[in-house]
Amino acid sequence: MNTIRELKKSDLIKAYTDAGFSTETACAEIDFAIEIISGLTPKDLIIGIMPSPKDIQKLYNTVKTRLSTCQPVAQILGFAFFMGYKFEVSVNTLIPRPETELLVKKAADIIKNNDFKQVLDIGTGSGCIACMIAKNTQAQVLGTDISNDALKIALNNAMHMDLMNRAIFRKSDLFSKIRNEEKFDIIVSNPPYIPYSEKPHLQTEVREFEPGTALFTKDKAGLEFYEKITDLAPQYLNNNGYLAFEVGAAQAHSVKRIMESNGFDKIEILTDVTGIERVVSGKLC
Ligand code: GLN
Repeated sequence: MNTIRELKKSDLIKAYTDAGFSTETACAEIDFAIEIISGLTPKDLIIGIMPSPKDIQKLYNTVKTRLSTCQPVAQILGFAFFMGYKFEVSVNTLIPRPETELLVKKAADIIKNNDFKQVLDIGTGSGCIACMIAKNTQAQVLGTDISNDALKIALNNAMHMDLMNRAIFRKSDLFSKIRNEEKFDIIVSNPPYIPYSEKPHLQTEVREFEPGTALFTKDKAGLEFYEKITDLAPQYLNNNGYLAFEVGAAQAHSVKRIMESNGFDKIEILTDVTGIERVVSGKLC
C-alpha cells in the first residue's frame, strides 16, 4: 500500500478482504473515506475526477490505520454522515447510526403536528439528533451531555450547520442542570442501552473505540436510563408533552411499560429498516 499518486481502489479492497472484511464493507468504507477526505462521490470517480495525491496518501494511511487497529474510519477522520449532513465526531462521541434517523423523524413529526417550540435532547453526544431536529423544525433544541468533550463537538456541529441560535448545549447529568422552571414540549433521548455484561460480545470497533459512557448501562436489561429519564420527564414537560426514545433490540415493550407506569399514553413503537423495534414515543396524559 505504498502507491501515493494513483488511486487503486482494487488494492484497497484487497487490503480489506485480506484482513477478513467483506468486499461490501470495504467498498462502503473506502467510498466514505474518499468523500470525507476529498468531497468526491463514487460518481465523481467514475467520470474521472480524482482525489489529489495528498488526499490519496491520506486515504491509504487511513485504511492502514483502520485495518491495523480496527478503529472506525469515522473516528480516524473525525467525521461521519448523518441524514445527509457531515458531523464532526471523536473518541468522546458515539458515531451516528443510520437507525437514529427514525427518532429524529418521529420527533420532527410530533413537533410539527403540535407546533411545539421547546425540545430537550438528553445525552446529545455529537449533537446529531439535536441539530437535525433543529434543522427540520422551527423548534429550539437544548442538548445536554455529561461529557464536556462531547459538548464541544456538538457545539462545533451546530456552528457549522448555522444552528447556533436553535441548537444549544449544556453540561448536565440527565436532568441535574435543568432548572425546575424550564419546561419542554418534547424530550428525546438515545441513551446508553447496552448492558455492560454484553461488552465482550460487541464488535471490536465499538467495544474498543466508542465511548463506554454513551453505550453501557449497569443493569442487565439495559433499561437504567429509560427508567431514570422517564421517572423525571413529567416534571420537565409541558401539559400534553411527549417523550421519545431510541431503544435497543427487544427493549421496546419494556420501555413502553416504563412509560405507561409514569403517566404516558398513546405509546407508539416504530420499527427500523432492519425490522428492529427502534423508537418508542408517548404522550404525557
Ligand atoms: N446503537 C448503538 C449500538 O448498537 C448503541 C447506542 C446506544 O447505546 N444508545 O452500538
